[in-house]
Amino acid sequence: MVNQNAYALGANRSCIRDLFEYGRQRAAIVGPENVYDYSLGNPSIPAPKEVNEAVHQILNEMDSLLVHGYTSAVGDYDARKAISDDLNARYGVSTQPEEFFLGCGAAPELVSVFRALAVPGGELLAVAPYFPEYKPFAEEAGLIFKVVPPDVPNFQINLEALAGMLTPATQAIILNSPNNPSGVVYTRQTLTALAAVLTEKAAQFGHPIYLIADEPYRELAYGVEVPFLPAIYPDTIICYSYSKSLSLPGERIGYVYVPSAATDSQLVYAAVAGAARAGGHVCAPSLWQKVIARCAHLRPDLESYNRNRLALYEGLSAMGYEMAKPDGAFYLFVKAPGGDANAFSELAKQRDLLLVPGNGFGCPGYFRVCYCVSYDMIQRSLPVFEELIRPYRLDNE
Ligand code: PLP
Repeated sequence: MVNQNAYALGANRSCIRDLFEYGRQRAAIVGPENVYDYSLGNPSIPAPKEVNEAVHQILNEMDSLLVHGYTSAVGDYDARKAISDDLNARYGVSTQPEEFFLGCGAAPELVSVFRALAVPGGELLAVAPYFPEYKPFAEEAGLIFKVVPPDVPNFQINLEALAGMLTPATQAIILNSPNNPSGVVYTRQTLTALAAVLTEKAAQFGHPIYLIADEPYRELAYGVEVPFLPAIYPDTIICYSYSKSLSLPGERIGYVYVPSAATDSQLVYAAVAGAARAGGHVCAPSLWQKVIARCAHLRPDLESYNRNRLALYEGLSAMGYEMAKPDGAFYLFVKAPGGDANAFSELAKQRDLLLVPGNGFGCPGYFRVCYCVSYDMIQRSLPVFEELIRPYRLDNE
């Protein structure tokens, strides 16, 4: 006998992984240059060279027992200090190293925060479109998972719907900006309005409603502001990751930030640490903590992502595809011509163009295009996009 929920999750690969594996198989048959794989969010820009230099320096200069040994459960002080200093310099805030808990990337950090907030009957609201893993993370943690319908077509936050879904059982809202899958960045105006709604409801219910900010894409913004959420709403808990910002998804490093100004911050911080402990996360990878201590101030070079973004946004828009302006991350979320994203993605798949239908993101009728790919592949794929939309355009002419 095995746990049935765990079995179901393990036995059914995600649709994104399925597509990715399919792409590999097709590449072996038709040649990699004939497969246009927009399925997976694996960064396509290398880590900054300073990161690799730091790895070498650490390995050459530091005591090997220290580099590879267990660290304190909350993470090395030097790394937490470097992160705190960087945020303070950038946002004019006054975070402290003691408010940070180093984790193994956003995914396990989210699991720990969900577990930390999972009281019996507690609810978590996710704003569609949302990262599909939130649902299993939340449900396994013991939270009731609810979806706030999307704000179509701009994919900001449907505040009216959200306000109507808040109940005394609401423990937290999970937000992801810049957003996977829409590429949208929530504006300061949207976030300020959200904060007002949450503040009012929290006072009415007599307990905090936490905002969990899932921020692996914080540094991936193209000329727009990504506001620092705790400065707008103090009951914010950040789950950050270097997977995308420093192109280190395989190294598993990031942090949870619990501001001391948040309600019951010490309780929350201890519960996050306890949940990580119960989940078996003794400490984040030690070598990478030392790298972050030296590299927390680095930013990605976004030039190639930006070129891809513009090529697709402008190219697809000119063909008649509709999408919200993608100001961040490396995704476009496109309205499926004909309205059925599954059917459209299937048609695309027959031409070796791999697009992820939006159902899993809580947004049927849209498909995701992940543009951390080569510019060359984009250029080769554009005629296929054109061919696919042509019949629908003729319908409208
Ligand atoms: N949250 C979002 C919105 C993501 O897109 C991802 C990864 O793609 C994660 C969390 C998980 O990030 P990590 O690799 O740091 O666990």
